[in-house]
Amino acid sequence: MMENFFTKPAPSYTFEIFPPKGNKSLEGTYAVIDSLVSFNPDLISVTYGAGGSSRDNTVEIASGIQNKYHVCGVAHLTCVGSTRENIRGILEQLKANNVKNILALRGDLKDESDLGEFHHASELIEFIKGEYGDDFDVFAACYPEKHPEADSVEDDLKHLKEKCKLGVKALISQLFFDNDIFSNWKERVRDMGITQPIIAGIMPITSAAQISKVVEMCGASVPERVRRFVNAYGHHAGAVKEAGIAYAAEQIIDLLARDVEGIHLYTMNQADTVRRIDAGIRSVLYTKRYEISHN
Ligand code: FAD
Repeated sequence: MMENFFTKPAPSYTFEIFPPKGNKSLEGTYAVIDSLVSFNPDLISVTYGAGGSSRDNTVEIASGIQNKYHVCGVAHLTCVGSTRENIRGILEQLKANNVKNILALRGDLKDESDLGEFHHASELIEFIKGEYGDDFDVFAACYPEKHPEADSVEDDLKHLKEKCKLGVKALISQLFFDNDIFSNWKERVRDMGITQPIIAGIMPITSAAQISKVVEMCGASVPERVRRFVNAYGHHAGAVKEAGIAYAAEQIIDLLARDVEGIHLYTMNQADTVRRIDAGIRSVLYTKRYEISHN
């Protein structure tokens, strides 16, 4: 049976994983998925070339999630450096493998010569919807602290609205650590008339090195409280991870209280981290779902 994310109860609860780098076998990835499915996610998305992971395995893993685990699998797809023919080839593979959900992205640019035949995610979305109609449900990315290349939040939201008008069904946000920033930005999104559900991206902090890398990559603001625990416990791997997991769980509990439409955990393929966060939020998530479905 084809899993349909859009018929599931709100707020949604979803995970992101990445394929192995290079030619490594998929055994380790499937071991991670074995654990993740036990937390009953509404979907698991698979990155495409992010952080140097292999692009080749995205279709195969998303298909495995969908067809072997019977969980909704989402394939990320970037268009940077691609031709229409390249993209059509991947879409045909996804279709043949029963993967209906795509997170359509531009991908990061090293320089403008990288671009290929697509300049923005909107062009990829237009291509997918134009060529395949409702064969695919399309998700897109959004940025509560604006995309690093955007001149202003207004400009970024203008482009987000254009993207949404092309048939995007839901948005998944870049990670953030400050819920007030997310809530204020979300209000502006709604004021712009963008109505798609916004799934909040949460990345648990599991090491001091990770947070510097993440901040450099996406420019997320780091609240004073986070800086303090990273400074205090960063030298001890177990302690900083414990603090990061507690912070992520608290962040999720607060977002659920603010009526967030979904939580997307950037799992970094760490099933044990997910298990610990899940234990801290499960009854809150289910209470929220129960209230929404009975009101
Ligand atoms: P776009 O929507 O094209 O936006 C990029 C920039 O261009 C923004 O500043 C936007 O304001 C601007 N813009 C958009 N349209 C126009 C226009 N018409 N005219 C002028 N400016 C415009 N990367 C990977 O490589 N692999 C992954 O698997 C991956 N997964 C991700 C998952 C999530 C949830 C998120 C948030 C990001 C992910 N990324 C991934 C990173 C993503 O590829 C980068 O952030 C990339 O730089 C932008 O992608 P986008 O789809 O948001 O691009």
